[in-house]
Amino acid sequence: MQGLDMFYDDIAAISTPPGEGGIAIIRLSGGQVIEKASKIFRPYQDGVDISKKAGYSLTLGWIKDETGEDLDEVLIALMRAPRSYTGEDTLEIHCHGGVLPARRCLETVLRQGIRIAEPGEFTRRAFLNGRLDASQAEAVIEVIRAKSEKSMKLAVKQLSGHNSEYIHTLEDRLLELNAMVEASLDFPDEVGELEYKKAEATILESLAVIERLIRAGKRADIYRKGIAAAICGKPNVGKSSLLNVLLKKERAIVTSIPGTTRDVIEEQLSIKGIPVRLIDTAGIRATEDIVEKIGVERSREVIREADLVIFLLDLGTGITAEDLAIYKEIKHRNLIILANKEDLEKKHITEDELGHYFPGVRVVWASAREDKGIEELEDRVEEMALGGELHSDDLEIMVNLRQREALIRAREHLEDVLQVMQAVPLDCLGVDIWGALEALGEITGKNLKEEVIDRMFTDFCIGK
Ligand code: GDP
Repeated sequence: MQGLDMFYDDIAAISTPPGEGGIAIIRLSGGQVIEKASKIFRPYQDGVDISKKAGYSLTLGWIKDETGEDLDEVLIALMRAPRSYTGEDTLEIHCHGGVLPARRCLETVLRQGIRIAEPGEFTRRAFLNGRLDASQAEAVIEVIRAKSEKSMKLAVKQLSGHNSEYIHTLEDRLLELNAMVEASLDFPDEVGELEYKKAEATILESLAVIERLIRAGKRADIYRKGIAAAICGKPNVGKSSLLNVLLKKERAIVTSIPGTTRDVIEEQLSIKGIPVRLIDTAGIRATEDIVEKIGVERSREVIREADLVIFLLDLGTGITAEDLAIYKEIKHRNLIILANKEDLEKKHITEDELGHYFPGVRVVWASAREDKGIEELEDRVEEMALGGELHSDDLEIMVNLRQREALIRAREHLEDVLQVMQAVPLDCLGVDIWGALEALGEITGKNLKEEVIDRMFTDFCIGK
């Protein structure tokens, strides 16, 4: 790649997490890393010289220190510029997966005049060398941090350049519009007046795409960060059973003695692709038991912080004073009622009663014990988590906050164009069209300032 004559110094870092594992990988990148590494490497096969090897090759041997003593047996993967992650010459030293082997190898590497990499520096170089655009570079950390299958899928799509395609299409459209504006300014006689209708249509179409991208961003945020949901209800109503059926594994103690689940139990799971922190509360009830009192306070706290509350009722007992007392505490929250134990033959709650005591609250009839109605509950959770952001035409892509802000700026510029289109001189339109283009360019990283680039990589770990 041509851009590569901008020289960066040689960097190295351990790219695998600390601790014991099968292997640890030390990654090296820069103009001279192959030469430098060849000095501390003793290949198994005589006469092999890694500095002469082609890219995408593996070589087995030993890392030795300056005295010639072997440190560890390693496999070296070599990638030559520009066909590497960073776009530079890159080496990966696979050593034994322990804290010491990795550290000793790294120290030896660093003594060759290679410096330790900063967090995210490999990916930053990939971006600066044009291997990844900004949106893709940001996707790298999203893939690493993904908490559910869905957020992983979205992040991988972003990594493959899916988002950037939308942006490039928008840019093309706006460039065309700008050309139209300029042509009618420069050669009014030949091209005639700007076709306002056509220009307006272009802007409206672009605004619609931007709107969808912004909305997709809000949804993606939920898939990325997840929500907290509290399960509450009187003792014995089936909270632990619900937690269990949702987790499909035994963790909470299921028992029929009231008040045993005193503590707050928390589990992380994924509901319809949304990471959900599910918290089983001890139940809010007046009690003299000191341990239970602490539980009650914690339950209140959990409920205050939860994005949504699943409130269980027991079809076996009917609606009791205790239920109503709990309801008083949670009625202003995002609420779903789960009418549990539907499998019981005799049910002591009617639809009318539910409507009377809990007006306007969604009710799901279910049996935690028999795993009935749980899917409907999951649908409701998804619906509430996405806060009515479920549109059938929604784009399935991830748009992060930085990108969303740029989109909002682009939208403002285009709305300005739309507003003043017929009233101001044509060249004034150009200013806003360029404003929109500049904002869009930030998404893929065309016009990024140094400090924005710095911020993009602050979340990265060393070695990535
Ligand atoms: P918690 O105190 O609210 O956590 O309630 P548990 O989950 O410990 O359940 C209390 C009792 O109700 C246990 O004996 C469960 O087996 C029973 N139970 C829970 N869910 C159901 C259900 O859907 N149907 C029936 N028949 N019993 C249930």
